[in-house]
Amino acid sequence: MKTVKLSSGKEIPILGQGTWRMGEKASQKTAEIDALKLGIDLGMTLIDTAEMYGEGGAERVVSEAIGGRRQEVYLVSKFYPYNASYQGVINACERSLSRLKTDYLDLYLLHWRGSIPLAETLEGLQHLKQAGKILDYGVSNFDTDDMEEAESLAGGKEIATNQVLYNLIHRGIEWDLLPWCQKRSIPIMAYSPVEQRAFVNDSRLKNIAVKHNATPTQIALSWLLHQDNVISIPKATNPQHIRENFTALDIDLTEEDIKEIDLAFKPPSRKMSLAMR
Ligand code: NAP
Repeated sequence: MKTVKLSSGKEIPILGQGTWRMGEKASQKTAEIDALKLGIDLGMTLIDTAEMYGEGGAERVVSEAIGGRRQEVYLVSKFYPYNASYQGVINACERSLSRLKTDYLDLYLLHWRGSIPLAETLEGLQHLKQAGKILDYGVSNFDTDDMEEAESLAGGKEIATNQVLYNLIHRGIEWDLLPWCQKRSIPIMAYSPVEQRAFVNDSRLKNIAVKHNATPTQIALSWLLHQDNVISIPKATNPQHIRENFTALDIDLTEEDIKEIDLAFKPPSRKMSLAMR
């Protein structure tokens, strides 16, 4: 699989798996574990989770899916803004590690900005990194001004990624945030890459989909997979969706396809505030 390089030098795959809405219902647990295992078997070894998802339930699902194969996986988790104090982030990390049954996270992200000063959060993250509890850290839902502020603080230049809403419907970051991050080799991690099923019957993508013997959702994902310095983390429990997401890597969009896509889903022509879920 194609990879992107973090500033620490670590190479990570451009396609992974999300876990929001997992770990919420006991009846879904086996299907969710099997889904993540299938994704890992196919090569989607980056797994994104958060203490928020199912209030720890998603991390428990992940722990079962990666049991015995921790080394194969690139594990990302996120902490609540209210846990972003120096000691708060250290404690939250310990709880996540315990639920995930692992002794380190590959990447640990501040889920969104809250009221605790960023400088204090960065201090806590640096402590975790030095202690080997996390290998890298980053942020989520940060707009360009937040990134600029973070960059100016101690430890801010070590921010490895910014996880934001990015897909064909939400292209606002192309105006400033994406180039800002590209210039600094900070990969963007695109969440909701298939816009939570919104492309399934999208008539604007149907012609291109037919041409590539693919679904409109696969075309939307393929478009993201072709962006420079972007990692995509679709969530799928249905095995067919998982396979389709993986095979989206093989779709070779032509220049003509890209032009058609740009006409239907216009890139931004001005600064737009960061879209979030
Ligand atoms: P998403 O990945 O865009 O969409 C997930 C939905 O799309 C599920 O209902 C899934 O169905 C369906 N789906 C997946 N692949 C499909 C395919 N090939 N064809 C048709 N339907 C497909 O939305 P998301 O879960 O919001 O975002 C992905 C991940 O990003 C999350 O799980 C989470 O890890 C992360 N995230 C982060 C933030 C943040 O604030 N940092 C916010 C939102 C999400 P099935 O499950 O039935 O297969």
